[in-house]
Amino acid sequence: MKKIHMTLENLRSTQSFAQKLAALLPSGTVIALTGDLGSGKTTFSQAFGKGLGVNDDIGSPTFKLVSEYNGSDIRLYHIDCYRLEHEKDFLNIGGENYLDPTDGITLIEWADKIEKLLPMDCIRMNFGRLQNEPDKRDLIIEGLEF
Ligand code: ADP
Ligand code: MG
Repeated sequence: MKKIHMTLENLRSTQSFAQKLAALLPSGTVIALTGDLGSGKTTFSQAFGKGLGVNDDIGSPTFKLVSEYNGSDIRLYHIDCYRLEHEKDFLNIGGENYLDPTDGITLIEWADKIEKLLPMDCIRMNFGRLQNEPDKRDLIIEGLEF
């Protein structure tokens, strides 16, 4: 599978990329976001939501597992697996519905926690920080087909 490697030069680049990408992806898309704390997963998700036309503030769903939003004509499911201990806990809350969304797009932060449950065709994005470059991010994308 082809890998796309990009450098996001600053916060604005990440936001702009996320917002533009949101407008291009179809309903049913699942994006698995990985990367350390502070790497930019929530920042990406907030701008992505804006690109879908979500007007509500998209927070960090860490204490909620799943937050749902209405975009202009598509829904956004924002999931944060940080506090999840077992994959089965995700299934117990009906998580599989979010892995095959019929009316929206699902973004999953800390998706590595449910690695075995992720759909084969999901898009994977890994955010990395760079030494001595506090505002730059290294982004590797897999599964994005043009
Ligand atoms: P995560 O959800 O991965 O823990 P957050 O998105 O909450 O990360 O935090 C990322 C932090 O890094 C934010 O404070 C954001 O302003 C900052 N930041 C600086 N440069 C960038 C960049 N290029 N892309 C994303 N976030 C950046
Ligand atoms: Mg986060």
